[in-house]
Amino acid sequence: MRTMASPIWHPFTQHALQPEMVRIALGEGAYLYADDGRRIIDAISSWWVVTHGHCHPTIVRAIKDQAERLTQIIFAGHTHEPAEQVASALLKLAPAGLDHVFFSDSGSTSVEVALKMALGYWHNIGEPRSRIVVMQHSYHGDTIGAMSVGARGVFNAAYGPLLFDVTAVPFPFEEKEQATLDALEAACRDKPAAFIVEPLILGAGGMLMYPLQVLKEMKRICEAAGVWVIADEVMTGWGRTGTLFACEQADVAPDIACYSKGLTGGALPLAVTLCRAEIFDAHFSHDRSRTFFHSSSYTANPVACAAAKANLDLWQEPATLSRVVEVAAMQERALAPFRDDGRFKNVRRAGTITALDLDVGDSGYLAGIGPKLLEFFARRNLLLRPLGNTIYVMPPYCVTKSDLDEIYAAIADAANLRQ
Ligand code: PLP
Repeated sequence: MRTMASPIWHPFTQHALQPEMVRIALGEGAYLYADDGRRIIDAISSWWVVTHGHCHPTIVRAIKDQAERLTQIIFAGHTHEPAEQVASALLKLAPAGLDHVFFSDSGSTSVEVALKMALGYWHNIGEPRSRIVVMQHSYHGDTIGAMSVGARGVFNAAYGPLLFDVTAVPFPFEEKEQATLDALEAACRDKPAAFIVEPLILGAGGMLMYPLQVLKEMKRICEAAGVWVIADEVMTGWGRTGTLFACEQADVAPDIACYSKGLTGGALPLAVTLCRAEIFDAHFSHDRSRTFFHSSSYTANPVACAAAKANLDLWQEPATLSRVVEVAAMQERALAPFRDDGRFKNVRRAGTITALDLDVGDSGYLAGIGPKLLEFFARRNLLLRPLGNTIYVMPPYCVTKSDLDEIYAAIADAANLRQ
């Protein structure tokens, strides 16, 4: 087996069980084309990043134009037009009260930045706080800080000794919402630095959805206690929940917000962490020791920023949000028959995302059915990557009804697979 091992080590891939990777040559709209000519429907937006479709012409053009002018510049002490355009467009679109934009390059780094901003604030105002409150079943990324604020389990068991301690409030399952709010209220009495939460849907934790009233209440509790709320919209942002950002629906203005994935329409890696003026101001000083000490070499890469600017321009067009609303309605219609199908549990939808759990007894990320489902969908030329026994559909917004028909026909057939 050793000699057959791939020289490339792929993410979240068990090479012993999956020796062959699917070689993709082209992406167009909702489709991927493999080297062998197969057309694959991308039903999960290539890990939730592609919003308007693969190789969207507006975004591709912006990348090409920028690549001919400036591809990289150190962002400490320097700036450039694409970054400035992205920052000003974002501040207009983001919830009120967010006044500053810090660039990084992935969802995980945007979360690390958010945590450092919160702790930096408390440190710099002379009232050091370090505890972070989190929600059970959350996922915030795979760097050490992001793992620390995420659920503990198989994803990070090996690194446990490196992870810092947090206070977790229970997930607000139906009819258990009050327990979440009570736990948050109690946690806030211990003066934590911040509460970090995925608004409305916990993605990698199993596409768990909760009502907007809970999000609203959680923000009210934190605000009353003077605890910063970090909204991790890395997955929920860019229309996924039916509005540009999930927080909008609950009329919640977070104190710190993380956006990535669809920020460039899914074309290039880029992330931002937005924060309130008070947080920036706590670092603003003639004393250099109060600087926000965070950077990565490619911070605000000009080409990635040009892609983000093109994406933000697309979001200025009313047709973009109307399309999101249409996709949400198409998803609801496609999902409806599964609501009375006894082979599935927890059939649910939030905006353009649907999820349903195969009722096979075994659940969780390592459920035995997981690899079988993956293989089954691959044979149907569908890119679907269930989370254990949870199948979800998160398509790019250019998906058609006939694509969805194909996807849901395969899901119905998959229910006949046995563990
Ligand atoms: N936060 C959330 C809510 C996510 O869903 C993810 C990735 O799926 C991340 C953070 C990490 O993003 P990235 O994989 O770009 O580091």
